[in-house]
Order: sequence, then structure tokens, then C-alpha cells
Amino acid sequence: MLTKHKIKKSILEIKTGDITEEEAGAIVNAANRELSPGGGVSGAIHEASGPELWKECKKLGGCDTGEAKLTGGYKLKAKHVIHTVGPIYSGKTSDGTDLKNSYYNSLLLASRNNIKSIAFPSISTGVFSYPAGEASLIALKTIISFLEEHPEIELVKMVLFTERDYHTYKSSLEMILKE
Ligand code: ADP
Repeated sequence: MLTKHKIKKSILEIKTGDITEEEAGAIVNAANRELSPGGGVSGAIHEASGPELWKECKKLGGCDTGEAKLTGGYKLKAKHVIHTVGPIYSGKTSDGTDLKNSYYNSLLLASRNNIKSIAFPSISTGVFSYPAGEASLIALKTIISFLEEHPEIELVKMVLFTERDYHTYKSSLEMILKE
């Protein structure tokens, strides 16, 4: 399933899929603060990339919530991995700021490294328990406003693991575009 939307000169795609198989300048990892493989999408990315990824991550000294760090992609089709740590959902207003920062800082890191296409998973909505409806609005609003200012990023893909998440993101996009 796939939806495409043009934001100025760039394309925003919402699709179902496995992010470890995406071709992109960078795929984003919903990482933990230690940048260790763990489970979920992070475990899958480390598994597909191979042990070199964890070796490089160990040298980075972890990552704060809302921040982003760049590594190679190793055995992945993607050339780079951008590791960002989303918030563990608590219901506080700072959750929204942290999640926004995760998307924003990942996009900024891509732009600064001349990466033109980037694929995101649904950050924080798995083990970190962020409600997908709320998270999708923050994710898409942050991506759209970034693309409006940064035409150097040509393509952003939201890669959703389930059809349910795909529909959540698709309806959120429709809602935002109506505003
Ligand atoms: P977090 O700890 O940030 O919540 P998770 O890895 O638990 O991260 O989940 C984030 C999202 O990634 C969830 O929506 C989950 O369904 C999704 N996910 C898990 N594996 C993959 C994959 N291979 N490709 C894309 N998304 C995935």
C-alpha cells in the first residue's frame, strides 16, 4: 500500500513495508539511549545490517532522547542509518516535543550529510507506547514543515509495519492537508 504527496519540490510517501529492505540514502532507527540492538525495529535493523553496525554504535557514546546520530548502513541497501531515540510515552507535554525533535533532528542530520532520501519507521509507537494517532500527527507535521524549508531532501518515506498503522498515518495526512 502506498500514498504519495508532493510538498513543494519534495515527495512524502506513506507505505507499508519492512524498513530493513528499503532503498534510501538513510533509514532511521527507533533506537534506545545506549544505541544497542535491542528488539523491535532496532533489533531488525541490526540483524539485517550485521555486526559492524553495533561496533560503530558502541563508539558513539549513546544518544539522548530527541537527538540523532549517523552511522554506515553496512549490509543494508540503505547507505546510512540515522539512529534517533524517541520518548517513552508518559502523557506529559514534553513527549510531543521529544518526538518532534526526533524527526526534526533526523531530517537535519540527513540534510547536513547530503542525504537526499530518508525512510522513517513509526518512532515510539511500539515498546515506547506512544499512541499511534497522536504520534502520526506529530511525525507528519514535522516532516511537512521541514520539507517546506528544505527542498534538498527529495524524498521522505514513512514505512509502516502494519496496515493498521498505514491507515492511521494516511488519515492523519488527510486531516493535516485539510487544515
Ligand atoms: P519504539 O521503542 O520507538 O516504540 P519499536 O521498535 O518498539 O520502537 O516500534 C516502533 C515501530 O516500528 C512499531 O510501529 C513497529 O510495528 C515498527 N516496526 C517493527 N519492525 C519493523 C520493521 N522491520 N520495519 C518497519 N517498522 C517496524
